[in-house]
Amino acid sequence: MSAATGAVTDALRELHTSYAGADGGELAGYIPQLALADPGAFGLALISMDGHRYSAGDADVPFTVQSVSKPFVYALALSLLGLDEVSRWVNAEPSGEAFNAISLEHGTGRPSNAMVNAGAIVATALIPDTPVAPRFGRILDCLSRFAGRALDVDEEVYASEAATGDRNRALAYLIRSTGPLPVDPVAAVETYFRQCAVRVTVLDLAAMAATLAHGGVNPLNGERVVSEPVAAQVLTVMATCGMYDASGDWLLRVGLPAKSGVSGGVIAAGPARFGLAAYSPPLDRTGTSVRGRLAIGTLSDRLGLHLMRNPALPGSTVTLVTTADDLPAVPAGERARRQRVAVAAAQGALDFTAAERVLYALDEAGAGRTGAVVLDLVRVTDIDTVARAMLRGGLARLAADGRRTAVADPDGRLREPGDDTGAARSFASREEAVAWCTATASG
Ligand code: GLU
Repeated sequence: MSAATGAVTDALRELHTSYAGADGGELAGYIPQLALADPGAFGLALISMDGHRYSAGDADVPFTVQSVSKPFVYALALSLLGLDEVSRWVNAEPSGEAFNAISLEHGTGRPSNAMVNAGAIVATALIPDTPVAPRFGRILDCLSRFAGRALDVDEEVYASEAATGDRNRALAYLIRSTGPLPVDPVAAVETYFRQCAVRVTVLDLAAMAATLAHGGVNPLNGERVVSEPVAAQVLTVMATCGMYDASGDWLLRVGLPAKSGVSGGVIAAGPARFGLAAYSPPLDRTGTSVRGRLAIGTLSDRLGLHLMRNPALPGSTVTLVTTADDLPAVPAGERARRQRVAVAAAQGALDFTAAERVLYALDEAGAGRTGAVVLDLVRVTDIDTVARAMLRGGLARLAADGRRTAVADPDGRLREPGDDTGAARSFASREEAVAWCTATASG
């Protein structure tokens, strides 16, 4: 193991050592087969956006996915039907109640969210069931694609829940009696039991979480599983509703979208950063793994992962604001002619926040806010659509104010499809852009 990757594994191992002895919690006895789990089993896994896999402890021990399936089946429903249609049948409000509560909206019977059982049963019911593509086949395929490998069902756990799952059946009957759902939740609840009995390892769960964090693309194999907007929608509902009646406290303390399940699995996602998972069967009173909560909470705290802490401020987007005569490349004799050409240079990946900084720098550039302006994008690595539109609009406004504008944009990043000229005259280098501004300014 190299020194670099060893550091991540060491962090996971240290957490594993710290919490392996943590007592407390109980196995989920209401599904008899789950009560047979080894209470000492404990695994942690992290998968990066580059698909690098790290783990500690029982990384290969199989267990059933249980409620950790909920975000992924919700993702499938959103992919097939869209947010508006899915929201007609299942809301996205935290219930503040236990996982198996009768949390149905007054009047409509709509479950409060897809992370509690009532809403998950509706999400499962919404998955189309056809002879060519049966509902459960679609679900198993979807979960497998999130994990990046073919998953299967633990038939013993399935049979155990099917034999004892009357509360979920009762929920399904209640949903059918209160709402005009166009499909049968009573039939779907048997599929829901099978979906909960899909077998995974903690590394599978980390891959599934990483796929959501990676905008819907599995970082292990590069396969797009769901669209980027669907991944964002699912992460949002995980953030507000994923931890049952402890969702607010979790978001406050840990600050990551997450989902727990009664077999002891927990996932957490750092958007655009990593997927994280823990497995340890003893549960606290809210149905979350005791050691899983401790390990993920501590990791978030130590590594500063809380979403609201935003440690990734793009501090150095603008690398230079000057006039061309200050540039070393300009010969002394030329300086007078170039005095009134201002240059702002940017670097890195430009998004809304970065584009605001660049535009501010452009506004400030040039004595008295007059004269020509060169925007140097040579060291820019990426521009998203929002930033591109902002920069093009900003350059157009400068031009409308009577200022000459040019960009050094060798890779055509400011160009839009079907647009050959770009927002301003485009050059391969800053020197050429400055020379053009100088020539036109003096001409
Ligand atoms: N199959 C379980 C149930 O519906 C899942 C619950 C959970 O993991 O929270 O009771």
